[in-house]
Amino acid sequence: MKIAEVKITVLKVPLSEPIKASFGQMTHRMSALVHLTTDSGITGVGETWINFPPWNYKERAATVTEGLRPLLLGEDPLRISYLWNKMYRGLLGPFRQYGCESALLQAISGADLALWDIAGKILETPVYQLLGGKFNEKIEAYASGLGPKLFPDIIESCLHKGYRAFKLKVGFGKELDESNLKTLRELIGDDSTLMIDANQAWDVQEALDRISAYEKYDLLFVEEPLPARDLAGYRELVGKSPVPIAGGENIYGKENFKQALEHNCLDIVQPDITKTGGLSEARDICSLAASWRLPYALHMFGNAVGLAATLHLATALPGGLFQETDANPNPLREELLSEPLQFADGCFHLSEKPGLGVELNEDVIKEYEVPSSSL
Ligand SMILES: [Mg+2]
Repeated sequence: MKIAEVKITVLKVPLSEPIKASFGQMTHRMSALVHLTTDSGITGVGETWINFPPWNYKERAATVTEGLRPLLLGEDPLRISYLWNKMYRGLLGPFRQYGCESALLQAISGADLALWDIAGKILETPVYQLLGGKFNEKIEAYASGLGPKLFPDIIESCLHKGYRAFKLKVGFGKELDESNLKTLRELIGDDSTLMIDANQAWDVQEALDRISAYEKYDLLFVEEPLPARDLAGYRELVGKSPVPIAGGENIYGKENFKQALEHNCLDIVQPDITKTGGLSEARDICSLAASWRLPYALHMFGNAVGLAATLHLATALPGGLFQETDANPNPLREELLSEPLQFADGCFHLSEKPGLGVELNEDVIKEYEVPSSSL
């Protein structure tokens, strides 16, 4: 069996309410799927992260069709490790020169997920079985994407669905951050778990000031308080912070995670399988974290395909805390699949369907697809 076609679909959904982070905002949800089809007609699908900047999809479409496609065509899709290395080694030189190894790993993520999906379909088994089998029966979710404008109805609805952990976006100024923290803690009650995410907004001193002021809200962790590359800063912060430090959505590949762990930069690791190199690379990263006796909490702010793939890894791997799930409405999570992911009492339950177990709703794709002439 050989790979006969490689293509990318870009989806764009307008937002009635922009999603804000300390570094900028999304006015549309941008999302991309990589589809690999074999000569026997089996198609696998994966997600590659394109959330920022808003024109990122143009680079990704070119990298998938002009960079990855020639390396994958004609190859045996079951040789996942070989193909991962072929893609990475084949394009690393030009991407290093471009200064964007991370963009290469994001593109490879989409292809890697699609390869795992195909492998599961060929072998007629769910991907988590290929990753070592079921370690966890269900995956507890936490609600993210909250703030800086808080919507009490969204939080109420999360509580109603069984969520017991919530993460607030901070980095919007001392006053707003603290009033949001206070409000959110009141809305979710003392029994729920609370975290904050600064999206790389602070320096060490500001982070220490904020964390000591916010400690009273009983925080499980502080995510990305500093720019991801500031290893010296993270090392200092981890040594001094009374609250554990989390990060990893902007750390790419196991070599960079290894460096961060060797410098004692993190208490909780958060790789994103649609960014860091797919299931293949994220599995290695989580194992690396386990060797430091650190838990993982997989980052996810994408569509239903990326979320499903993330759940397969979380189902198979020990050492997970819980799964990030964007609490804001998103048709690319809720409607993209013909059969939505199973969720009850705050937890995801994976189906036993082969591969990633996702079937795309073509009507939703038609509605939001960016025409190929615009890529
Ligand atoms: Mg984050």
